[in-house]
Parts: sequence; structure tokens; C-alpha cells
Amino acid sequence: MVSRSFKEAADLYNGKCGGCTKSYGEKGGNCAHHTSDAMYRAGFTDVLTKVVGGPITARCDGGRPIRAKELRDWVVGQGYTAHAARPAIGTAAFFFAYDAHKDKGHVGFIDKTGKCKDTGTGDLWGTERKYYW
Ligand SMILES: [Zn+2]
Repeated sequence: MVSRSFKEAADLYNGKCGGCTKSYGEKGGNCAHHTSDAMYRAGFTDVLTKVVGGPITARCDGGRPIRAKELRDWVVGQGYTAHAARPAIGTAAFFFAYDAHKDKGHVGFIDKTGKCKDTGTGDLWGTERKYYW
């Protein structure tokens, strides 16, 4: 049984989706798509559960959420707290960043070594929050 944690999810992040083969046309891949796939494989299996009126409205053919803001809302719904500070080394976090100029969100992980695990598009992002207990 895998431990349901962002630490595990960050370790399993591989920039792919195990549920489909689509890329959703973004440079470096769709961040929410690959982040939610890693979460699913780390034990957050209910991220695939369709909930009427829930935060996830867009999914890939494999059921993974593909929108950054929606995935962030789902994580918040699990009870995680938003922090401005990075998690302590040895622990990990889910992060959400927002680019006000593009009105676009970005998600990924900060792993247990403090390294960013995401689609790595190199874009500049504005407000960033880290989610962990
Ligand atoms: Zn997929």
C-alpha cells in the first residue's frame, strides 16, 4: 500500500500520464495532467472520482484532472493548508502558482530535497503557494 503523500507523488512524477497518451498541446506537457497522474499513482486514487458539483470539470481520457486551478481546488478540499514558505527538507509539497498576466495557473511538486518537479516550462510565475499539512 502506497502512503498517500506529496512526498511519494513527487518521487513518482515522471512527466507522463499512465491513463492516456494525449499531451494537451502545452509546451513541456500539461502541468496538471502530469501532476495529477503522479498523485493518483501515489495513492490519491480518489482524484479520479467524478463528483457532481466538485472542483474538477476537465479530465483526460484516463480521468486525470488537466486544469491547474481545479487541481489546486481539489487539494484544498482535502484539507491541505496553503503556505508561502517551502516545506522543510525531507518533506514535500504540492504547489500552485498563478501568472496574472496570462491568467493562467501552474502546478507541480517541491520534492523532499527541495527540488521542483513540474513540466519545467521556464515561464515566470507570480503568486505561489505550497500546500502541505
Ligand atoms: Zn491522461
